[in-house]
Amino acid sequence: MYDVAIIGAGPAGLAAALYASRARLKTIIIEKDGPGGQIKTTDEVENYPGSIRDCSGPDLVERMKEQVDHFGAEYTLDTIESVSFEGKEKILKGMNKEYKAKTVIIATGAHSRPIDCPGEKEFVGRGVSYCATCDANFFEDLEVFVIGGGDSAVEEAMYISKFARQVTIVHRRDELRAAKSIVEKAKNNPKIEYRWNSVVQEIKGEGIVNSIVFKDTKTGELEEYFAGEDDGTFGVFVFIGLIPNNDIFNGLVDMENGYILTNERMETSIPGVYAAGDNRVKDLRQIVTACADGAIAATQCEKYIAEQE
Ligand code: FAD
Ligand code: NAP
Repeated sequence: MYDVAIIGAGPAGLAAALYASRARLKTIIIEKDGPGGQIKTTDEVENYPGSIRDCSGPDLVERMKEQVDHFGAEYTLDTIESVSFEGKEKILKGMNKEYKAKTVIIATGAHSRPIDCPGEKEFVGRGVSYCATCDANFFEDLEVFVIGGGDSAVEEAMYISKFARQVTIVHRRDELRAAKSIVEKAKNNPKIEYRWNSVVQEIKGEGIVNSIVFKDTKTGELEEYFAGEDDGTFGVFVFIGLIPNNDIFNGLVDMENGYILTNERMETSIPGVYAAGDNRVKDLRQIVTACADGAIAATQCEKYIAEQE
């Protein structure tokens, strides 16, 4: 029986584990993919306090995990498939094992939203990607289309431009959503171009991507773009937002548009169950807010357990 079981080892889960284990609570983090969550997929983190001098996402994750290990939180690789939150003993059913805990912190984060157009699924890993740090080097000296207009699209376009010959940001409007500081940097990058008022209608190819059909969001006009003869292919990197990883909690805790509702103490609608990070209703989804949520949730677990005893 654990005091605290944390589902997910992204920044929210790791911060929660740090606070819980430092408070001497018997803590376990259950993670399905290896520590880090979304930040392990980004090359540069420059807005998390203290992350200066070329701090990459994987660097930051490594330090967070080391700190958690230092304070003795248990870490295990497993996917939680279902949960039972009735009664005082919370039960988490993993693919490998069952876990019991007095309190639970749901820190399951979010994953990339797909375009959902024909050809997208078929060409994942063969031209279509959702992770620049994982795949950008496959497009050395080739063309790349980056889909989306938020922070991720613009930042990752800059990273991809270190490899690609040219990067075109494809956005459904004519104004980027990304933060001004990020937009300014991208504007000074000679390899980045923009295709405004466009969405992707279809991705085509033979084995690998070799054409893409764009739809003009104003006129409805379609245009098919083909890879240059010498290139034979190009990349399509998709950054059009996130979907919270909350399916297994549907109907168990209160949600809004798939995100878990909490108060400022990270309490969900079930006593002893907390949510932290990108999977909850909030205005700013960042490492710093995910960590803050995790710290608050862990501190509340400590109070909750003390009150129950
Ligand atoms: P996540 O990072 O999504 O972690 C959730 C974890 O839970 C994952 O490891 C997942 O595998 C695990 N999990 C999910 N379901 C289960 C389950 N059923 N069982 C077990 N484990 C499960 N923010 C910044 O502040 N600065 C940046 O520079 C920045 N750059 C970014 C670049 C990109 C490309 C992206 C996509 C995001 C970026 N962000 C940045 C946002 C930041 O990464 C997120 O706000 C942050 O990672 C949220 O942390 P989290 O712990 O809530 O969720
Ligand atoms: P986001 O902020 O939700 O932006 C998604 C972008 O994709 C928007 O420009 C949106 O267009 C567009 N879009 C959405 N659905 C689309 C569709 N079906 N077809 C075409 N375009 C579509 O998502 P994000 O950029 O992935 O960022 C997610 C979170 O992580 C945000 O909270 C962000 O701040 C954070 N993040 C932070 C940093 C950083 O701090 N450095 C870096 C990366 C991410 P509209 O603009 O028209 O809505």
